[in-house]
Amino acid sequence: MLIVNGTIITFDKENQIISDGAILITGEHIADLGSTAELTAKYPTEEVLDAQGKLAMPGLICAHTHFYGAFARGMAIPGAAPQNFPEILEKLWWRLDKALLWQDIRYSALVCLVDAIRHGTTTLIDHHASPNAIEGSLDIIAQAVEEAGVRACLCYEVTDRDGEEKTREGIEENERFVKKVKGELGGNQGNLVGATFGLHASLTLSDETLEECVALAEELGVGFHIHVAEDMADVRDSLKKSGLRVVERLNEFGVLGRQTIAAHCVHVDAYEMDILRETGTRVVHNPRSNMNNAVGVADVPGMLKLGIDVGLGNDGFSNNMFTEMHTAYLLHKLGKSDPRIMGADQVMQMAFQNNAQIASLFFTDPLGQLSVGALADVILVDYQPTTPLTEGNFPWHIIFGVDGTGVDTTIVGGRVLMRNKKLLTLDEEEICAKSREWAGKLWKRV
Ligand SMILES: [Zn+2]
Repeated sequence: MLIVNGTIITFDKENQIISDGAILITGEHIADLGSTAELTAKYPTEEVLDAQGKLAMPGLICAHTHFYGAFARGMAIPGAAPQNFPEILEKLWWRLDKALLWQDIRYSALVCLVDAIRHGTTTLIDHHASPNAIEGSLDIIAQAVEEAGVRACLCYEVTDRDGEEKTREGIEENERFVKKVKGELGGNQGNLVGATFGLHASLTLSDETLEECVALAEELGVGFHIHVAEDMADVRDSLKKSGLRVVERLNEFGVLGRQTIAAHCVHVDAYEMDILRETGTRVVHNPRSNMNNAVGVADVPGMLKLGIDVGLGNDGFSNNMFTEMHTAYLLHKLGKSDPRIMGADQVMQMAFQNNAQIASLFFTDPLGQLSVGALADVILVDYQPTTPLTEGNFPWHIIFGVDGTGVDTTIVGGRVLMRNKKLLTLDEEEICAKSREWAGKLWKRV
């Protein structure tokens, strides 16, 4: 397939803009890039997809999400409104996740995948919990991901908060699924589904559980996906349990490292940042969630300056990663009372380069960039620049002018999942109707 007449932003090392550009896709990969005139002459018999002047960009990556959060939209929480983060966990999330049954897991994932394709998000790193439906839960999500045709890395959030038996089941679900994805159980998940080891957060994990999970993950050859110092409650709990702050405690057990994703890192001090940098741990920033939970402002500019790979996630908010980028751009200026903080170029670094680095932990071929040999995850976005668009200023166009609602075409691994805003792999109407039905039933159980 030859995409022609696009304004290509490559987001590779050179970060080029090719106006009136073309992309040749062969199989799952990008085979050539250049001007429309050059590539149409070179490949005259290719099937053509006309971008009609739209922006052509790599599909977006969401480095931390919870598909099951979809069923919280509009849900009334019984009793007084939660006053702080521990109350939000207890009154909302830990009631919701306990109520999740098989159909809820499937439809909450599917509605997120519809939303992701609509907004050009082609790779998602999910963190799943359903304490009353653990074994096999990751297979249900994997099936939805494959039906949708996007990429996702899955794991189960191990926690001690529901008793020993659930801890055990959570550990086993990670082990089983990692082995399946790695093909050891004869499963063949292709290049769409990846796996890692999920841990909820330091505050719900005992020393014994951490020890056991680290030994097992080492055996499996994977890192972790865990919430880190999202709220001061996590720090207080860690100090009480171990006399150490969260990053220090997790590092003592060997949880951190280049394969580990530490979501949030809102309450980390300078010493902890050094540990994150030295261990090569990937931090994922979720600005909308942090603002919504009023947990604080992570020192993302400081972490980026130190050279920590900070990526961007949505923590279960809408799968429009452009909105997450816009929020990241605004939050730190207000947080530090300094308009110079967090340039649009730094937001692009998190959302594209750093997220691509994180996603590449789970998928063998390069992704998150338009370059020859990379996976053909491409989106076309409707955007008419009203001022000159250049290699030097495109990040500010993306922050001030481009939004996920302008995504017209979504392609993953050369397969077109949405064209002219019409979904080709999922039946949106049916999925939304079923989702409303199952979410309504779940709300009654909550
Ligand atoms: Zn989260």
